[in-house]
Amino acid sequence: MKLICIGRNYAKHISELKNEKPTEPVIFLKPDTAILLKKQPFFIPDFSDEVHHEVEVLVKINRVGKHIDAKFAHKYYDEIGLGIDFTARDLQQKLKENGLPWEKAKAFDGSAIVGKWVSKSNLDNLDNLPFSLHKNNKIVQSSTTQEMLWSIDEIIAYVSQFFTLKIGDIIFTGTPSGVGPVQPNDSLKGFIGEEQFFSIKVK
Ligand code: MG
Repeated sequence: MKLICIGRNYAKHISELKNEKPTEPVIFLKPDTAILLKKQPFFIPDFSDEVHHEVEVLVKINRVGKHIDAKFAHKYYDEIGLGIDFTARDLQQKLKENGLPWEKAKAFDGSAIVGKWVSKSNLDNLDNLPFSLHKNNKIVQSSTTQEMLWSIDEIIAYVSQFFTLKIGDIIFTGTPSGVGPVQPNDSLKGFIGEEQFFSIKVK
């Protein structure tokens, strides 16, 4: 399985990193080895002094598809989750300045937190889903999917032009503003509405 990640999908996050607003979604991949094993702490890697949390709504693909039309995209997922796209921001900045791919900064072991899954039928409105990240019990990121530049269905249509989607693939739909560094002993908890989807410790 693969993790397909969308960058720059929330306007306020684009401005906090002083990036340009894209005319098409920004896509990158993480390998399955990026997924942090359940109940494990996240260890800040040696090669970075500035690892940022990026909380993101996740979508799990449930059937094989290619060139999916946005109006049929809803048939390709039943479950919604929440996770973190950990990013070695200092390393990413260097790679960006040199025009190099981001993978070392984005796809390292443990960089993908995948929380629990719920059936989308249990959620009121996927196009206005409130979610948040609490660091040490304080809210640091809070948004709704209404703030996305590209909706879940539009993302599926777009990425499936390039990659065949397979059962179990996970899409990270982009992060809202409020990203910031994590330190050893931080606790990170993710919520959709009032419901907790993950809780991890940083080491
Ligand atoms: Mg991200």
